[in-house]
Amino acid sequence: MIEVQHLTKKYGKHLALDDLSFTIEKGQIYGFLGPNGAGKSTTMNIMTGYISATSGEVLIDGHSILDEPEKAKKSIGYLPEIPPLYLDMTVMEYLKFVAELKKIPKDKRSAEVRKASTLVKLNDVSNRLIRNLSKGYKQRTGLAAAVLGFPDIIILDEPTVGLDPKQIIEIRQLIRKLAKDHTVILSSHILAEVQEICDYVLIISKGKLVGSGTPEELEELSHGKDSIELTVKSDADTIQSVLDRIDGIQNVTWRNQGAGSCDLLVDTSKSAQEVCEDISIAFATERIPVTRINILKATLEDIFLELTESSQKDEEGETKR
Ligand code: ADP
Ligand code: MG
Repeated sequence: MIEVQHLTKKYGKHLALDDLSFTIEKGQIYGFLGPNGAGKSTTMNIMTGYISATSGEVLIDGHSILDEPEKAKKSIGYLPEIPPLYLDMTVMEYLKFVAELKKIPKDKRSAEVRKASTLVKLNDVSNRLIRNLSKGYKQRTGLAAAVLGFPDIIILDEPTVGLDPKQIIEIRQLIRKLAKDHTVILSSHILAEVQEICDYVLIISKGKLVGSGTPEELEELSHGKDSIELTVKSDADTIQSVLDRIDGIQNVTWRNQGAGSCDLLVDTSKSAQEVCEDISIAFATERIPVTRINILKATLEDIFLELTESSQKDEEGETKR
């Protein structure tokens, strides 16, 4: 449905997108995840025809955004990072104006505007000046403009930024509702957010795709990144001597070293489950009580750090060469 092929974008000498390629299929919620400056907005601005790429191509349902912008843009609604709202218009005036820009036929405009503003719950403020709206309502006005005409694909650049927790929950609910009939692509620098709302995540760092998958698949990537926390009723030297005999222990962090009991965190280089079993058997053989043992699963955040660090290392390697 959307094919992004070898996108490169240079701002002067600065390479903001570096040969970025991916495909978006119909009917899911996609998340662009990446820190500030990763290139999320640049990618979205190119995909929606706001700015041009230095090289590469974007095809929307087979239509090039560059060569056939009208056809390509027809299936896209876009909420940019800073929505181009006209502050001196009322919400209704603005949405009617957007409907006109979107070439929604005149006799259908009112109905379409009503549909969009009902969906995002804007009806109460439809006669207010945009200038006087709260940040949350301004964001909803931008969202209504994006969904107006109900295009197949809705692209939202950091839709929850600057909103309070209640507004964030509301916007997320709205996104889920939209996703029932539309493909939604959103960007975020918040891991928990993409993990919570998205079906598929594309991780971008320094203009490159450094990882992608379902939130579950990304967690799978973490195997070997899990760690084990345990409390053992013995002294540190004895505990260490038992651990030394176990395969797959990478690192031990001592959290609390009491005379009769220690808390520690064990990083593993193989399946944490296997190491966990070996640990409990080893201490049981020595008749040393383990009073607590728990596997800590790596979070998406750990994976993100891992992926972005490894891409940074690659880059450093390249500059040294
Ligand atoms: P994100 O949305 O992930 O935070 P952006 O796409 O906004 O990232 O920016 C990617 C990189 O390109 C950043 O380093 C940013 O400073 C740079 N950049 C973005 N827009 C411009 C611009 N108009 N002129 C120069 N540099 C820009
Ligand atoms: Mg951005």
